[in-house]
This record gives sequence, structure tokens and C-alpha cells, in this order.
Amino acid sequence: MNLIAELRARLGEAAVLDGKDIGGRHVSDMSTTGTAPPLAVVRPRTIEEVSTILKLCHAAGTPVIAQGGMTGLAGGGNPSGNEIVISLELIRGIEEIDTASATMTVRAGTPLEECQTAADDAGLFLALDLGSRGSAQIGGNLSTNAGGIRVIRYGMAREQVLGLEAVLADGTIVSTMNKMLKNNAGYDLKHLFIGSEGTLGIITRAVLRLHPPTGEITTVLCAVSTYEDVVKLLRRAQGELGGVVAFEAMWREYFEFTASALKLSFFAEAHPFWVILESTAKGDAMESFLGECLEDGLLQDALIAQSHAQAREIWSVREGHPIETLPNLLNFDVSLPIARIGDYAVECSAALHARWSASHVSFYGHVGDSNVHICFSVEYGPGEDMHDVDDIVYGVLKDYGGSISAEHGVGTLKRPYLHLSRSPQELALMRCLKQALDPRGILNPGKVI
Ligand SMILES: Cc1cc2nc3c(=O)[nH]c(=O)nc-3n(C[C@H](O)[C@H](O)[C@H](O)COP(=O)(O)OP(=O)(O)OC[C@H]3O[C@@H](n4cnc5c(N)ncnc54)[C@H](O)[C@@H]3O)c2cc1C
Repeated sequence: MNLIAELRARLGEAAVLDGKDIGGRHVSDMSTTGTAPPLAVVRPRTIEEVSTILKLCHAAGTPVIAQGGMTGLAGGGNPSGNEIVISLELIRGIEEIDTASATMTVRAGTPLEECQTAADDAGLFLALDLGSRGSAQIGGNLSTNAGGIRVIRYGMAREQVLGLEAVLADGTIVSTMNKMLKNNAGYDLKHLFIGSEGTLGIITRAVLRLHPPTGEITTVLCAVSTYEDVVKLLRRAQGELGGVVAFEAMWREYFEFTASALKLSFFAEAHPFWVILESTAKGDAMESFLGECLEDGLLQDALIAQSHAQAREIWSVREGHPIETLPNLLNFDVSLPIARIGDYAVECSAALHARWSASHVSFYGHVGDSNVHICFSVEYGPGEDMHDVDDIVYGVLKDYGGSISAEHGVGTLKRPYLHLSRSPQELALMRCLKQALDPRGILNPGKVI
């Protein structure tokens, strides 16, 4: 019996899609770089079924790709034509919220937003938050070690995980569904699967750490003159104001492009940098902090959002959807030491403009987490090699000691550049782990390493 027939016999006809039944969403993630449908898409309902699929694929030597919400931006979930996709969408639901331990036990296919709402309803707070919250799944969030807008206060996805369950390439279920904050009994195996983009195992369940609710958050839009002042504002807000839960910077080109496309205007004057500062500090404390920063010349202007709607308007500029209408848009997600981001942006922008004088180059991002995103767009003719953009962005980055992936992962798109951010010794150890956990190389081949 061939593999697809065997999968149907074991899991039922409805669990296996092939041919025309495979929808477009299984072909490409949000990087829109995937082109080939997989051999089949299998939708298991239980963890035991995930194990059965892997056992069969392992025996057949057939590659397997885990797919979550397919909101990834690095091509990590994209098939190349000869794989079995395991779609986690039916491994869904919150199994338990333990208010005494402040934990949530959740299945991998549950959308992030569903988990956030359930935590809220229980009077607790799940600190992971991304723009893709409606579609991205917890399994995808953990396998990419997602970042988002609350990292500055709570850390990345990795920091929200206490326990994990994963299925290995040969179908073995490894369960470390720990609820304790402290557990130093040997290697902490969950970290093998967090951030490994489905190349070392398939995540099926997790125990997430919950926090007390943040309380009311004040949103402020700040105008700043220099990148050095952006960094000073960050450190001063953390030191004097406290309770900083978001610190996002936008360079002038980015802010002006998106604000004008959205027909939003906040101040009469233009400024080189714009910061969204969010804190749990109460109104008076925030007002006196901003007043002192204005007096000292650290701030040029500041607007405290007066309503949830005004805060949403400010965030809509940062989310920057109008940028997506630019032709041939390329988006980069890099990180580097916070003090060096300003100089990197100047050098990177100059290098890109020297090569394509009419291009759009703009910068924005989670600067408080040492993470900056770069938008590049240009009209180009046949024969032009757009890989030169990667070479310039990552080439300059290497000189600054930065990382080619801050939060989106490596997938296929950044794999050729991984050696710029990792030493030969680190790469050798990664290959060693891959060989140990997946000796037949069936898990998401061609991704990450
Ligand atoms: C509008 C928008 C905003 C975004 N904002 C952010 C942001 O602020 N920060 C950020 O970090 N990312 C962001 N992203 C990127 C994306 O949402 C994240 O990478 C997210 O974590 C991917 O989750 P997913 O379920 O969609 O995973 P998918 O795209 O389906 O998969 C991503 C990778 O994980 C693997 N995978 C999926 N599920 C599993 C599993 N159960 N077990 C093992 N491997 C698995 C896949 O094989 C693939 O390699 C954004 C994307 C969009 C479209």
C-alpha cells in the first residue's frame, strides 16, 4: 500500500487531502514565496494520530512539514512538492487554566487570540502578542519563538513556556508538561523544539505561563530628534517612569509614508523619529515624566492618547499596512545591539540608495528589544538580481555584529545567510542536534540549516 493510502486507512478518508482538495493556504505562508502544493495534507485530531503519521513517514523516508496558521514570514511552512504536510488545525483547544499555578495548558493548533481571551476571562494575562494573533497558532508561535510587542517587558515566546509536548521524527511522543517555574532536573528539553521551526520535532501541546493583568495602559506618541535621544528616552522611561510595556520606533520615512496614506496627522511639524511608548504608569506620573523630557529637550513633542480609538490610530501607523502596497516590497527583520541601530540604518540606507537611487527604504521596529524592520521597494526591470538587496542588508549587518533574524525565523529565505550570524562551531552543533533527533532528515528538510 502506498503512503497516502496507508494514511487514509489509519486516519480515515476525511483526514487526508490531496490533489485539488489541497487549498492555497497550504502552499505558501505570508511570505508568499511558496509555489508547489505538497503530496498531501493530513489533519490529525489527536496527538496519537500525529505520532502515527510520523511513524509511517519515517518508515517511508518521506519528508514532513508541520503547518500552523501559515502566517510565517520566512517560508518555514512552505512545501516544495514532495512532502506530507501535517496541519495542526484540529489539535485545538485549551485543556486547562490553573489559576493557582497561573498556567494554561493548550493544544498546538489553538489560535493565539483564543488563548489571550481565555486568559483574560480567567483574570490573568498571556504576554505573547503579535499582529497575526487571529490566525497564528500556539504551535507556530513556539516553533518560531515569536516576539511581538510585549517582549520588552515579558520576553519572547520562549519565556512564556513552562512545559511542552512534542512528537519526534520517529513518532515518539516526548512530554515535558511541567507547570513549575523552577525545574533544573537535567537538560531543559523544551528549548530544543522552541525556535527550531519544525526541524527537530512537532509541537503538540504546551503549558504557558500567565501573568497578573497589566491594568490600564497609557499610550504616548513621542517626537524625537536623534536616534541617540530615542535610546536615552527608552532608558529614562524604564528607570524613572517604570512599567514600560512597549517601545516602538519609526524613522521619518516610514512614519510619513504610512501616516499620510492613512490620512492621519498628529503634530504640525515633521520630526526625524517617532516613538510609541506604552506604560502602566498612571496619568499624572506620565504627564510629569513627559513634561521633564520636553523641558530637557529629549522630547520635541508628545501626545497622550485620550481614548482607545486614538491609541489604535497611533498603532495603525506602526502596523503600517499601506507599506504593503509598494511595488516588489521586501521586508527584513534584523537585530543588533541597541546603541548601533541608528548608525546601521544610516549606512544600510545609503548603500541601498547608492545601488537603487529611486528606491523606498524605511525603518521601524521593536527598538526596545534591539529589533528593527527594514522595508525596501523599487521598480526593477528584467535581468536585475534582487538578491543584491539581501547581500547589502545582511552584508552591512555583519559588520555591526547583528543577527539576520530577530523574530521571524530562518525558514528558507534566510538559510543562505545563516553563516553571517552563526559561527562554524555553532552551525556544526546545530547539525549534530539535527542528526541526533532526525537521523533520516524527514522533518522540514531544507529549512533553517
Ligand atoms: C500581520 C503579521 C504580523 C506579524 N507580527 C509578528 C511579530 O510581531 N513578531 C513575530 O515574531 N512574528 C510576527 N509575524 C510572523 C508570524 O505570525 C509568526 O512567525 C508566527 O509565530 C507563526 O505562527 P503560525 O502558526 O502562523 O506558523 P506557520 O507559519 O504555520 O509556521 C511557521 C514555522 O513553524 C513550523 N510549525 C508550525 N506549527 C508547528 C508545530 N506545531 N510544531 C512544530 N513546528 C511547527 C512550520 O513548519 C514553520 O517552519 C507576523 C505575521 C503577520 C502576517
